[in-house]
Amino acid sequence: MKVDFIIVGQGLAGTLLASELFRRNKTFVVFNDPGQLKSSDVAAGIINPVVFRRMTKSWLVDDAFPQMETTYRELEELLHEQLYFPGRMLKVLGEGGFDFWKEKAFANRLETYLEVEPIQSFQNPGISNAFSFGCVNKSGRLDIQKLISTFTGLFAQQNLIRNEKIDYEKLILFANSTTYDNITAQKIIFCEGSAAAQNPFFKNLKFKHSKGEVLELKIPELKLNEIVSDEVFVMPIGNDSYKVGATYTWDKLNYDTTDSARQELLNKLRNISSAPFDVLSQKAGIRPTMHDRKPVIGLLPDNPRIGIFNGLGSKGVLLGPYFAKQFADYLVGNSNYIHPEANIERYFKRKKQPD
Ligand SMILES: Cc1cc2nc3c(=O)[nH]c(=O)nc-3n(C[C@H](O)[C@H](O)[C@H](O)COP(=O)(O)OP(=O)(O)OC[C@H]3O[C@@H](n4cnc5c(N)ncnc54)[C@H](O)[C@@H]3O)c2cc1C
Repeated sequence: MKVDFIIVGQGLAGTLLASELFRRNKTFVVFNDPGQLKSSDVAAGIINPVVFRRMTKSWLVDDAFPQMETTYRELEELLHEQLYFPGRMLKVLGEGGFDFWKEKAFANRLETYLEVEPIQSFQNPGISNAFSFGCVNKSGRLDIQKLISTFTGLFAQQNLIRNEKIDYEKLILFANSTTYDNITAQKIIFCEGSAAAQNPFFKNLKFKHSKGEVLELKIPELKLNEIVSDEVFVMPIGNDSYKVGATYTWDKLNYDTTDSARQELLNKLRNISSAPFDVLSQKAGIRPTMHDRKPVIGLLPDNPRIGIFNGLGSKGVLLGPYFAKQFADYLVGNSNYIHPEANIERYFKRKKQPD
């Protein structure tokens, strides 16, 4: 069997890249290891164009946000599913937060994304302790899990997916192609999420993954329509249910849920709301992240049959469509541009020799 590309991994990254190649009439087979958990199964899917701590725009947001909206709307049409839920996010502003919000919103030109004037009277009996709220108008969420499962169904119908783990040792590399089992492709693109850290082809890369945990709670008294963000986010998902997250840790990188994360999330939730709740579920995942927190995209300089699309970190929903489009154009020869801060070549630059 001959295809243009083998794609390894069907999380958010692999799915978005495959959909862009599909749009460009390229052929591919996706391999996905069913025995391995994915970050995309745990992610809340929140879109936040603002870095609250500094009150600045999120990296590349002016380019990535419009591309994100276009891509998800096109995918909704293709798949006949609602996936993208634009909405508001309310940031709890503590003491001093009110002035900081107004000042930085102006200074950093954030008006496209948020209301400069904070909201002082937000009526919700389930929410306590907040002085005022900053309102991000351009927020919302993507149903990542539905996006992926719908594509899995589509790929399966067309025999484009194999539920197995790629064994690196079985890959045969030729000058102009690569073969795996009975499949010959021009290129193989690894979209393996955190598992890329064990991939021998990428040992030059510096990964710095983080573990995160989220809870799903039933909070009937809360009646929130917006995402509320404080030390944790509280995101409505319908049926009086909410996702509450997320924790960040950099050791013990595994998918095991912990009591300490559960306590941390519940304590932080209690700072916002005293409404009674039931815990429905708890999940843990590993955000695939690079040392500089920028994605990693491109072909290996010494072996351009092999590529990577990874490192989406905690911003996969916002940045994924922008970089999937950019990489797909690069792969099919429509462009030779990959954003320098995300390009894999940054890991292969020679150190300057002393004079
Ligand atoms: C708690 C938590 C909350 C998050 N919340 C958000 C959020 O609100 N908004 C947001 O934008 N992002 C969020 N994220 C981040 C988001 O999950 C990631 O950016 C994104 O899902 C990464 O997708 P990925 O495809 O790179 O990796 P993954 O989703 O991990 O997918 C990798 C896939 O590759 C497969 N694979 C790996 N190796 C092989 C192999 N050798 N052979 C075959 N298959 C292989 C795996 O089985 C898996 O299916 C969150 C993450 C966590 C953990």
